[in-house]
Amino acid sequence: MACWRIVVRGTVQGVGFRPFVKRLADRQGLAGVVYNTGDGVVIELQCAEDAAHDFAAAMKREKPPLAAIAECRIESNGHNGSFQGFVIEASRPVQGAFTLVSPDIAVCAQCLAEMRDPSDRRFGYAFTNCTNCGPRYTIIRQTPYDRANTTMASFVMCAGCESEYRDSGNRRFHAEPTACAVCGPALSERIETVVAALARDEIVAIKGLGGFQLACNAFSESACIRLRERKRKNRKPFALMMRDAQTAEKYCEVRQDERELLESRAAPIVLLELRRPSPFPDAVAPGLDRIGVMLPYTPMHHQLFEGRLECLVMTSGNFTEEPIVIDNAEARAKLTPLVDCFLLHNRDIFMRADDSVARCYEGVPRMIRRARGYAPKPIDLGVEFQEALGVGAELKNTFCLTKSHYAILSQHIGDFENLETHVFFEETLRNLAGVYRASPKILGHDLHPDYLSTRWALNHALPKVGVQHHHAHIAACMAENGLRKAVIGIAWDGTGYGADGQIWGGEFLICDFTGFRRAAHLRYIPLVGGDRASREGRRAAAAHLFDAFGNDYASVVKLVRHAANDAWWRVFDQMLARPPVRTSSAGRLFDAVAALTGVCVESTFEGEAAMLLEAAASNSDSDEVYPFSIDAETSPWTVDTRAIIRNIAHQCMAGHNRAAIAQAFHRTLGHIMRTLSVKMREETGLNTVCLSGGTFQNVTLLSHVLPLLRADGFEVYQHSLVPANDGGVSLGQAVIAAARLQTGS
Ligand code: ZN
Ligand code: ZN
Ligand code: FE
Repeated sequence: MACWRIVVRGTVQGVGFRPFVKRLADRQGLAGVVYNTGDGVVIELQCAEDAAHDFAAAMKREKPPLAAIAECRIESNGHNGSFQGFVIEASRPVQGAFTLVSPDIAVCAQCLAEMRDPSDRRFGYAFTNCTNCGPRYTIIRQTPYDRANTTMASFVMCAGCESEYRDSGNRRFHAEPTACAVCGPALSERIETVVAALARDEIVAIKGLGGFQLACNAFSESACIRLRERKRKNRKPFALMMRDAQTAEKYCEVRQDERELLESRAAPIVLLELRRPSPFPDAVAPGLDRIGVMLPYTPMHHQLFEGRLECLVMTSGNFTEEPIVIDNAEARAKLTPLVDCFLLHNRDIFMRADDSVARCYEGVPRMIRRARGYAPKPIDLGVEFQEALGVGAELKNTFCLTKSHYAILSQHIGDFENLETHVFFEETLRNLAGVYRASPKILGHDLHPDYLSTRWALNHALPKVGVQHHHAHIAACMAENGLRKAVIGIAWDGTGYGADGQIWGGEFLICDFTGFRRAAHLRYIPLVGGDRASREGRRAAAAHLFDAFGNDYASVVKLVRHAANDAWWRVFDQMLARPPVRTSSAGRLFDAVAALTGVCVESTFEGEAAMLLEAAASNSDSDEVYPFSIDAETSPWTVDTRAIIRNIAHQCMAGHNRAAIAQAFHRTLGHIMRTLSVKMREETGLNTVCLSGGTFQNVTLLSHVLPLLRADGFEVYQHSLVPANDGGVSLGQAVIAAARLQTGS
């Protein structure tokens, strides 16, 4: 009988794929063999051609929950087989090929049920896992994915675990991290002890899946304030872990898409709208109308909620700006001043991964921080790229490797500002380049000469290309959406080094992967104080007032005068007239409006003013649109924001409702984007608009701009798997560098 070969690529190893194939073959009465290769799974079947196609269709339909089939090819094997029944064979490695490493997966329902069943041998066991769930990326030292190559290597399986592991009919067949209380990792404390400490409002350092977390009772004002004082020294919101989805619904508005994301296997932190009145102290998320909520995702986390506890603050175990701590000794050394006690265990974390953060918009998850549960799952770009490396920006750094038609985006590395982050970046790069056998031929870096990522790139021997920050943002959006032809790009964010040496951030580009033209930008304002301008909203407010009011500046600047003393203002006002640098930043425009309205005069973390302004806007449905104009005499065109600022300043002085101002401001930005897009279409004939940059995490802005653009017939693309913020910049750098290699320019 003829023999057919089915070659399957994707996430098909370490997910129970071979036993699944065997069950399917047995059911259909087919003889043959299945084996892993370096880059996927091969099935040889002895059957008619129709039967092979039927088999492939059933395989795609019924695949195991964690499997993802990226490619499935059926080819004739050229000879007649002589198989007896269907067998699972050992791996047949292929030189130079790679498999996809699975991200870490939230504990499955079956494992959870076993953990809660007093008659099960894993009753109460905090490290229960199986083929369908558990740690992956964070414990894999190298590939192939065998236990010996994970941090589980030091645990020798007991007879019970071993027999499950060898049994192709068992859920734990080849589940590499499988373990039980007899043979596996153990907690340092009894869970009851830790729960009691949390109930006493103590702060606990917990060794989680991808790093340490700091936990406290989310209802306790004193605990939350103490944690904030000890750890953060700013107002950045804490994430909460809640017992289950019902609890989340009790305290937050949870739409269907948000609930699905909460309960997904990646189990990210999801930004949800708080129900009012909120029982959580203001110290959890000062001034915000949304909070980040996640559900327990390891058996250990579930155990914390088996008593009275309902909601815990669960924030990364680190000092602000440093990578999350993963090692027990390091935790004792660094976290002791922050916490009252520790919950440790003895399974090592090899690769650090923070909790991921996402929000849903139009039914689609939008990543804000992509890490645990997502990394290092490659993003399918649909078309092949040359092998390149994008080293990312400075804040929210990630790097990106392109390989075949995949983008391998690293997990969130963090703010590339210190030695620890530098080491984390290099370790992760070495690991991912090794696992995916990536050997980039070129690298792309930001134009900012002072970014540590740029300096790292410039010290590297590979050929390199400097990529303008906002060009990279739009290229990332194009790549994620499979676009290759020129687009209209709207790239709005806080800061990006411009090709003219100024600081850009309110950009309208015509671009493809090979280049860009800056078609328009927000009007330049003086930028005084460099990075401090992004923290101190009064600087942006005064600069915009100076620009908008000219000689009348002195009479309006009193709106923000109270934010500093007279001596400070004297120096500042002198510098305004002769600024060292100018900026078209959208972020500074948000800062200015937040400061003028009194919503936020001083930001304690990046994006705070914009977040608070968005929160303020939710209390109004004002349909006012402020006047603005486009100066088409300049090249590039400039968006004149002066009338907007004048209107807002007058309304503020007249005591106008600040929620209404915030809403009208968001609405006006939508109209600016529509007007510019139409003008750019008239000029170029392009009808595709890509939105990227941190400003597009603002869903109030999206709710204004998207309907306007669509009503005008534009095809609009946004991010989903790749963050719109600087976490996505590395993808844009990589594809632009790859395109440079391709065209040889
Ligand atoms: Zn499981
Ligand atoms: Zn065991
Ligand atoms: Fe940016």
